[in-house]
Amino acid sequence: MKEIVIATKNKGKIAEFKQMLDGWEVRSLLDYPDIPDIEEDGDTFSKNAAKKAETLATYLNQMVVADDSGLEVDALDGRPGVYSARYAGSDKSDAANMGKVLTEMLDVPSEDRTARFICVMAVASPKKETRFYEGSCEGMIALEERGTNGFGYDPIFYVPELEKTMAQLTAEQKNERSHRANALHQLLAHKEEWSE
Ligand code: IMP
Repeated sequence: MKEIVIATKNKGKIAEFKQMLDGWEVRSLLDYPDIPDIEEDGDTFSKNAAKKAETLATYLNQMVVADDSGLEVDALDGRPGVYSARYAGSDKSDAANMGKVLTEMLDVPSEDRTARFICVMAVASPKKETRFYEGSCEGMIALEERGTNGFGYDPIFYVPELEKTMAQLTAEQKNERSHRANALHQLLAHKEEWSE
């Protein structure tokens, strides 16, 4: 079976990768509990993804895929962006992060609530140049939270063509259109660039 190591401990993301990479042996950092956390201190998604992938590829001496993702809101000049995970503070929760975005957007009319999820994947191998693949998913910031599926900002990310938030979609529906799925499709479509 083809094997891939995904540099994350996020159970929501791991479940998405496993579902999208049917037929692959998907491993994650949960399989390597002794690996210390790698700080995401870059100011772009690419820098964070490359740092994670390259550090782990050297450490494990094998090919590693790392992603960095986040939410870009037009009315907030692209925030929370690379700071999505800790927008309301490093000890804060998804609920606090969503609350901060909704509060900052109280006066923003519907037509200006455009946003997108972005995902950059970096593939690093000990002896190869790191490759990058990007995916995005367009939507709108809802007025309130709806739905309980998914994770992160899903309850406030409205998908116009389905008239639902991302947290109201099934896993299959999310994985047909998500930023991570789109980045992964790019990665798989360019397999010759990175596979051994
Ligand atoms: P990271 O890529 O693990 O650094 O994730 C950054 C943050 O972006 C997450 O903690 C979430 O808040 C947000 N995020 C990334 N992908 C998604 C998604 O698919 N749905 C909702 N929020 C997401």
